[in-house]
Amino acid sequence: MRALIIVDMLNDFVTGKLANPKAQGIIPPLQRLLGHAREEGWVVVFSNDAHHADDPELRVWGEHAMAGTPEAEVIEELEPVAGEIVSPKRGYGAFDFTGLDEQLRELGVDEVVITGQHTHICVRHSSYGALIRGYGITIPRDAVCGFEGVDEDDALAYLEMAYGATVTTVSDLVEAGAAATAR
Ligand code: ZN
Repeated sequence: MRALIIVDMLNDFVTGKLANPKAQGIIPPLQRLLGHAREEGWVVVFSNDAHHADDPELRVWGEHAMAGTPEAEVIEELEPVAGEIVSPKRGYGAFDFTGLDEQLRELGVDEVVITGQHTHICVRHSSYGALIRGYGITIPRDAVCGFEGVDEDDALAYLEMAYGATVTTVSDLVEAGAAATAR
């Protein structure tokens, strides 16, 4: 069973305090992949920063995506629907102190497709969390992004090298699903 994990596609990370112009470009591929995941019955997870005032990470970034605020909500283009997992986190990794591993195991998930922001920070730490818990990792390169100035090829190469991630595209994932259905 596959899970699609969408990391930090939140108002503060797209248009707010940590706005990233590159994030706009991954919204259409993410919408396509999310639609595919819903059709195919993948588990869908939104792994969202939801910070408390004493979170250590705020020393680095200042206040952002504070729990319970509109800035910490998923952008409306990717709004979660009933039955999807909204998993708050207080650091970079989707699996760190969140209970997500237990939730996914219960649902029989063995492979995670990790998307969202940022390729070199939270996507990276979430990939490490997935690796050490035994999940296969797929990263569609057009559905992740780093900050401006970050070399995306380098960031993706690290995920392949260190975590054994399969780097692919949204089209390849969607078309592989369609091909499997046609067989
Ligand atoms: Zn944060």
